[in-house]
Amino acid sequence: MTAEKILLCVLDGISDRPCPEFGYRTPLQAAHTPNLDTLAREGICGIMDTIAPGIRPGSDTAHLSLLGYPPERYYTGRGPIEAEGCGIHMERGMIGFRVNYATIDDEGIVTDRRAGRISDTGALSRAIQEEVDLSSLGVEFVFRSGAGHRAALAFRGEGLGAAVSSNDPKKEGAILHRFEALTSKPEDRKTAEALNDFARQAGEILREQPLNQEREKRGDQPANMVLIRGAGQMGHYEPFNEKYGMKGSVIAAATLITGIGTVVGLTRVDVQGITGSANTNLEGKIRATISELEKADFVLLNIKGADEAGHDGNAQKKKEFIEVIDQALAPLQDLENCLIAFCADHSTPCSVKDHSGDPVPLLIHGEGVRVDGVDRYDEIACAGGGLHRIRGEYLMPVLLDLVNRSRKYGA
Ligand code: ZN
Ligand code: ZN
Repeated sequence: MTAEKILLCVLDGISDRPCPEFGYRTPLQAAHTPNLDTLAREGICGIMDTIAPGIRPGSDTAHLSLLGYPPERYYTGRGPIEAEGCGIHMERGMIGFRVNYATIDDEGIVTDRRAGRISDTGALSRAIQEEVDLSSLGVEFVFRSGAGHRAALAFRGEGLGAAVSSNDPKKEGAILHRFEALTSKPEDRKTAEALNDFARQAGEILREQPLNQEREKRGDQPANMVLIRGAGQMGHYEPFNEKYGMKGSVIAAATLITGIGTVVGLTRVDVQGITGSANTNLEGKIRATISELEKADFVLLNIKGADEAGHDGNAQKKKEFIEVIDQALAPLQDLENCLIAFCADHSTPCSVKDHSGDPVPLLIHGEGVRVDGVDRYDEIACAGGGLHRIRGEYLMPVLLDLVNRSRKYGA
């Protein structure tokens, strides 16, 4: 018997470096993880450079690599991916941007880059979508709210470039910047001009919104400006189902990860109450994953939280959240007809408070794997496993081979 389905479970930023508070063990080594350890005992393990040895991956580039889309060939910046993650369908050639709602004063000084951490920006985004008009420049746009103070913007039109600066001064108390073309190409100049016009009109519309007037009355920061950055041109991604002959889905809290999933053609599955933090609805996510595997051949599940603790430099919190994750994974033990791969997208060492190039632990569990002697899922134990050290771009080929979907090379 061979498994037919594949679950790729990315434990975002779970791996680390030795921490003095755990006697120089990593949080994953120090954590009590009976479920992951059982899966490791029954599976095959190794370590993985998600992009290449020593490369510090972003979550976006790492996920692209794990899905078999080498970022050096496919990645064109964060904007188009965030736009997809906010529900904008990006067509080839469109320019995508990340957006923050922000507060500026009458002099154009940015006083709050997150507009008092506003949420529920739906009405504001709808007003922008309906009232901003860039038709004199020949530019169409789509504007959508994201989580919290975030949103996304996409431009469609002839002769638009992506080499443009941002209006975000990156700090509070500084004046709003103008968008500039970063080259002398007419395409980039046109995009910069459209952005300046967009931000001016959006600012005027936002000031008139009842929601903002109510906020000001309450003493909250009004969301009266949009900070736009991360410009990138949407490229062509060979659809996942054509590339692999499998129907796939993505389950993640972060728009960056759902965006990666949908750009390659995975179907996005929304789960109530998932936040990407330690208080996320993990049980709901696991239930949704199991039921999705009845319909789909492949599911990408991203579990964040450990990454956040790593960015905070909080090893104790990271260890505790790893234990919460392990508990939530228990129902996966009973999955039938499914190959499960566990890995991280990158390490997020508490001592670094950011992503590092350290390889991540990899575990593959399911019918047909050559079970090795590793009986714990952690960075050190997995380094002694049968998969040895592989690159992220080889993960999909290895998984496809184990479900007998690999094409023969030669006669
Ligand atoms: Zn990540
Ligand atoms: Zn991170």
